[in-house]
Amino acid sequence: MLSFGLEKEVGAWDSVLLEPLTEDNFINNLQQRFKRDHIYTYIGNVLVSINPYKKLALYSTDLVETYVKRGPFQLPPHIYAVAASAYRWLNDRNEDQFIIVTGESGAGKTEAARIVLQFLVLVSGGSSEVRLTKDRLVQANTLLEAFGNARTMRNDNASRFGKFLDIEFDFKGDPVGGYLTHCTCNKFLLCGSDIHLLKSLKLQRNVEHYSILQIEGKQTTQSDEEDRKLFIYTKSALNILGFSDEKVVDIFRIIAVILKLGNLQFVPCNNIDGTDGCVICNEYELFEICELLGAEHRWLQRALTTRLIENGIIADLNACEATKLRDVLCRTLYSRTFSWLINKINDLLKVRCAKRKNLGVLDIYGFELFDTNRFEQFMINYCNEKLHHFVISATLKDEQEEILREGLEWTRVEYFNNVVICQLLENESHGILTLLDEPNVLNDSAYLIRVEQCCAGHSHCLTSDSSLPLDSFQIRHFAGTVTYKVRDFVEKNTDYLPKEVSRALYRCDHPLMAYLFPEGNPKRCNIKRPLSKSAQLRVSLNSLFKGLSSRQIHYIRCMKPNELKLPRKFEMGLIQHQVRYLNLLTTVQVWRGGYCYKLSYPQFLSRYKMISTSTWPRWRGTAIEGVSILVRSLPIPSAEFTYGRTKLFVRSPRTVFELEDFRRGR
Ligand code: ADP
Ligand code: MG
Repeated sequence: MLSFGLEKEVGAWDSVLLEPLTEDNFINNLQQRFKRDHIYTYIGNVLVSINPYKKLALYSTDLVETYVKRGPFQLPPHIYAVAASAYRWLNDRNEDQFIIVTGESGAGKTEAARIVLQFLVLVSGGSSEVRLTKDRLVQANTLLEAFGNARTMRNDNASRFGKFLDIEFDFKGDPVGGYLTHCTCNKFLLCGSDIHLLKSLKLQRNVEHYSILQIEGKQTTQSDEEDRKLFIYTKSALNILGFSDEKVVDIFRIIAVILKLGNLQFVPCNNIDGTDGCVICNEYELFEICELLGAEHRWLQRALTTRLIENGIIADLNACEATKLRDVLCRTLYSRTFSWLINKINDLLKVRCAKRKNLGVLDIYGFELFDTNRFEQFMINYCNEKLHHFVISATLKDEQEEILREGLEWTRVEYFNNVVICQLLENESHGILTLLDEPNVLNDSAYLIRVEQCCAGHSHCLTSDSSLPLDSFQIRHFAGTVTYKVRDFVEKNTDYLPKEVSRALYRCDHPLMAYLFPEGNPKRCNIKRPLSKSAQLRVSLNSLFKGLSSRQIHYIRCMKPNELKLPRKFEMGLIQHQVRYLNLLTTVQVWRGGYCYKLSYPQFLSRYKMISTSTWPRWRGTAIEGVSILVRSLPIPSAEFTYGRTKLFVRSPRTVFELEDFRRGR
């Protein structure tokens, strides 16, 4: 049934066609379409998607086939059309592809990435080996969601990590492998958020039993039935990915350990010498932890409650210090297990035959703005600032600059370039993020002083202002103003785990511990200390984006219609806010005057000369002349083409697909 495909057009499919183009018209068009469940709308080749917060009959194998057959832009806007055109570019032009999904938390990014993957699985070939790869790709994706997500106020299933799934295709266009990159924000997975998978382990029937699984005192609402399903699903996903039953148990044991660790309670005690110490009051939890890890009780207990000063002198930790250490250990254990899991999956997805091209899908945690914003939000929002910069560079800046360079007539479209905010954050010498790694910044107040010294007066940063709560600074991000509380910034950034703790874990019988805590090996004392969290994130983001800029990029821009996760509710103010910071109207303007595709004259000629008898088989004139003869011989309006200094510019995507059809002799 294709009622959706045949339904009368509601509003404009492509905002580029809106007349006159005003913000009101743009938003009204989105609203009109949203009310009729048309959640997708184009801005040229950019797909705007508004989260419907309800199941829609928009996704089916039939519809996948329709979008593959009819080609994009001949059917109503759909995420399948974006996936189809990426897949087509990949096969027809042999170019690497990049689908970038953006939007704030809860806008529907992860769901969009999942739909794209599902599409690719359906349209590609089916030898038994390819089927296995596809199965593994899907399982890997779902598994990471189960491990890496957390329920937050804004999204029941918020991704706590940035995920880039790069699928490798062979010359037939079949997936033969893949590579997962995750941005290492996941140190904080367990802080104040729940993880369904952990909960579903049912270590205790009672969820309230685990402090880690509560959001700021509230417990989660997911039903037992859902948890049970997720648990079974996760186990089978791990099996399909090639983890033996034994390894699965090892992984689950670590998760159980994390839960129990989170429960350890330290109470103050006074030592004979008058110093503060602490004892674990629910010792039975520690016994269970030791059992799960195959650890020796006294080693772990000592590692958690004391500190080695020097020359073998041991000092007691007070209850507060011990609690902090416990939290660092939880985070480290979780994040190292997560990284290990991803490495294992990557080994498994490694391409063993000749690959030809890649198609990657990027889904990063969305912008976050809570009542209290901490280090986690700071990292996440930094990622979003970088991502936003990448998108506006590619869609607005580079596009316009090239048009001008090529000598085409162009009225510049102005937009806010957030490069100033990126620099405020990551500037080498005094970026707010970089300052965290300064040697003298040993605690949060020292950090705040440095931020005040370096950034006071910056138009996007507010420090020591009477309007701010104590110990806070404020950043005017591209997507909104966020006040950050500096408490625990320094500690979370380093997440320093004392050697004694690594040692105690390294000595455990649990087969993964020696691998996860190599610095605990007494024979290897000079293992380099890992980069701080913020430095890791900076490095991984910069290298990710560097590798992607040469690809053909497709955009899916997700929006949230309301904060209450309600279907049918379209909040004007909220949509307007997103339309503004996502620069959507500017994107329409650039598209209206702009071009969807360009190719240098020699490239264009070599690709399409066979369409015309006068340039084929051998053209001896200049490339630009050949192109002009070729283009004039086509039944395509000449207004579709514009001649630049070195390149031919094509106005609408439809024309590009027509050219490809001619080439194939259709
Ligand atoms: P994000 O990754 O942007 O934070 P998600 O993709 O996790 O957001 O979406 C949040 C929730 O919104 C999902 O769990 C789902 O319930 C709903 N949702 C998102 N996209 C769709 C869609 N296309 N159709 C129906 N529901 C959706
Ligand atoms: Mg997500």
